[in-house]
Amino acid sequence: MWCFTPPSRFTEALLVKRLEELATTDGLTGCLNKRTFLEKLDEKLRSAQRFHKPLSLIVTDIDHFKSVNDTYGHATGDVVIRELGQILMRVKRETDLVARFGGEEFCVLCEETDTEGAILLAERVREELGATVFQTENGKLQVRASLGVATFPIHAKTPEGLFDVTDKALYAAKHGGRNMVVAA
Ligand code: GH3
Ligand code: MG
Ligand code: MG
Repeated sequence: MWCFTPPSRFTEALLVKRLEELATTDGLTGCLNKRTFLEKLDEKLRSAQRFHKPLSLIVTDIDHFKSVNDTYGHATGDVVIRELGQILMRVKRETDLVARFGGEEFCVLCEETDTEGAILLAERVREELGATVFQTENGKLQVRASLGVATFPIHAKTPEGLFDVTDKALYAAKHGGRNMVVAA
């Protein structure tokens, strides 16, 4: 006979928390997912506007990641993505938000942070990732990343505009030789 025991309040609270996590974060890294990040960006941008504070966006993209997957395998690629997520969560300030935007791309939203402050954070991420040595079945692996930075309201005034200028900065970093931070 099958018997159903209703969950206790405690178990129920844990389940609700877990469901919330599943809905708002990325399964591989535990960082926020894209949808949640975009919702928060809207909120943070409105608040920055109201209080006349700068708000900076950093976009990161690992360099030549396709060849990491091709040479070391997809599972190692996943380890690298997860490590970059860890670095971002470790170096960011408490009020900053980190999201995995897809593939090997992450975004960081830095409250009350001007371009100079965001560049410092981006440089630290670039250096920490570059200094990380991954031990793989095919030997040691090191990866680099390129990062774009832009700030509300000086570079853009809308969420779309902010993404647009940050992406252009990232594109400039890729074309400038990769493994670098470029601000809008
Ligand atoms: P670039 O320096 O120009 O950025 O070159 P790239 O090879 O990194 O190019 P791009 O950023 O376009 O490549 C992203 C690659 O990431 C493509 C895809 O194979 C890989 N990828 C996407 N999602 C995942 C994932 O969840 N796990 C792993 N291991 N690889 C992923
Ligand atoms: Mg990419
Ligand atoms: Mg890439």
